[in-house]
Amino acid sequence: MPQFDYPCPDCRATNSLHDADCRFEGTPWPDVEKAYTDVVAHLSAEPTDEDDLQSLVHGGWGPLHRAAVERLKRDGRVDEANGVLRLLTAAEFREEVSVPGREPMKTLYRHGSYPGCHDNAVFAMIAWYEMVGLSWSETRENVADWLRESGSWDRGGFEEATPEQLVDKKRHVYEAGYGWKEKAESAKRVIDRHR
Ligand SMILES: [Zn+2]
Repeated sequence: MPQFDYPCPDCRATNSLHDADCRFEGTPWPDVEKAYTDVVAHLSAEPTDEDDLQSLVHGGWGPLHRAAVERLKRDGRVDEANGVLRLLTAAEFREEVSVPGREPMKTLYRHGSYPGCHDNAVFAMIAWYEMVGLSWSETRENVADWLRESGSWDRGGFEEATPEQLVDKKRHVYEAGYGWKEKAESAKRVIDRHR
């Protein structure tokens, strides 16, 4: 099955298996990619007013373009200030996504995992870092640091001797590119009960 560099703007699929309720199911991938590249081409040249961007796009602005802009904003690739859109540099993006700012990931990141949700929490953290584009070694380091610094590791309930060993055992999550959301929501419910 072909894989795509850009995710579906609605459900984030990177192949033709969209979520059941995705509004872009069946949309040809070249159209999806064109929408992204139209937007990114302008923004990588210079920050652009969102209204101007619509008129600059050759061949017409459509729902896919709008969805692509929203997706780039939600994924933290594009920053908006006073209606002006700016593409983050690679370094800025890495810095930004290292600290998840939105729920349910924010709770996992800040409060750490508790016995009863370790599997889901670690799964979600790995899947999150994969989604935002970190390499495996960056992901491994971030998740191991998080296990220590959030207090998760000290709470116990792990079979492995070190956080790194635990993360290594879950490398398949990174390789498969699983979604983080469901696991993160389950973990958050457990964490919330402890806070
Ligand atoms: Zn989709």
